[in-house]
Amino acid sequence: MPAVKVPRREAETVKRKLKRLGLYDGKRRPKRGDGYVLLPVINDPLIEELDYEVLPLELSLRPERQLYKNLEGILAGRLSREELEYLRRYDVIGDIAVIQIPSEIEHRTEDIIWGLRKVHPFLKVIARKGFHKGAFRIREYSIVWGEKRLETVHKENGVWVKVDLSKAFFNPRMKGERYRLAQLVRDGERILIPFAGVLPYALVIARYRRVKITAIELNREAYKLGLENIELNREKLKGEIEFIHGDAFKLLPELPTYDRVISPTPRGVDALRLTLEKANGWLHYYDFVHEERVDAFRRRIIGECRRLGRDCSVRIKKVSDFKPHVFKVCADVEISVRSD
Ligand code: SAH
Repeated sequence: MPAVKVPRREAETVKRKLKRLGLYDGKRRPKRGDGYVLLPVINDPLIEELDYEVLPLELSLRPERQLYKNLEGILAGRLSREELEYLRRYDVIGDIAVIQIPSEIEHRTEDIIWGLRKVHPFLKVIARKGFHKGAFRIREYSIVWGEKRLETVHKENGVWVKVDLSKAFFNPRMKGERYRLAQLVRDGERILIPFAGVLPYALVIARYRRVKITAIELNREAYKLGLENIELNREKLKGEIEFIHGDAFKLLPELPTYDRVISPTPRGVDALRLTLEKANGWLHYYDFVHEERVDAFRRRIIGECRRLGRDCSVRIKKVSDFKPHVFKVCADVEISVRSD
């Protein structure tokens, strides 16, 4: 697979263009050099017509793709080429593998189980995943192999996270995001996390930084797991976590403001004004946005800030693909008192 070499400052624009043309290879990682970026593209004669410098390079696969490639390699002898096309990326959470099995390869479930156990001999449960439901964002699962449980302890960013996938939301793919936020935080900050779930953000940040975190969660099961997680990691945590069971919309108006607010907003919930009002320095607001609505989203945030009598600068970062043309994004909002 080739790569195109573009100056650093043009990288984002070219990447978007390549994506629009269906030429970008999202399975691979871009690579930064001195003043330039190498962008992975698929093998297609169109690339040569675009007037970029094209290099015959194999950029490395994203780590999750690598894992998936291992499974694909192992199953290559059992599944046909067409069937392999239907294999999806999967997750390993503690000793549970979670995989989506499209109906086209449902009859291959036994082979997939065999392949997963070969790649990950320590697995105790293999579950097929359905969709997230309701305000608590709990997914539906069916166990296709192993012990009949969806509870496990997952290791991430140096902390233990006890989860029960049948009772509370947890997404291992946000690992990089949690690390990114932990790096932005400074010792001494006071941080508010509504929609805190089983506390993955709070734990990772408190592991690295001497901070005071107030976290809020409405789902009682998630709340109980979160309390257990504080105990599980007690020795490792530099920061303090206060965890409150309740409705963020009722509790936040009663709380003071914080140096930083992190809102892993549940899909379909609008908590922008609610969280912005509580942020004195930074707000990290997660939402699901159509690619054509990103600018409108930015303008909405700036408008809300102005209404609250503040100035802000907004950087919107794409976190993951949610469905075609819709991304999960994080708006990093830096808030200051208005100068005029
Ligand atoms: N921060 C966690 C969970 C994100 S999912 C993580 O990243 O793993 C959103 C969470 O918000 C869910 O756990 C859901 O139960 C919780 N939630 C939904 N509505 C809420 C409300 N009104 N007040 C507090 N928590 C709420």
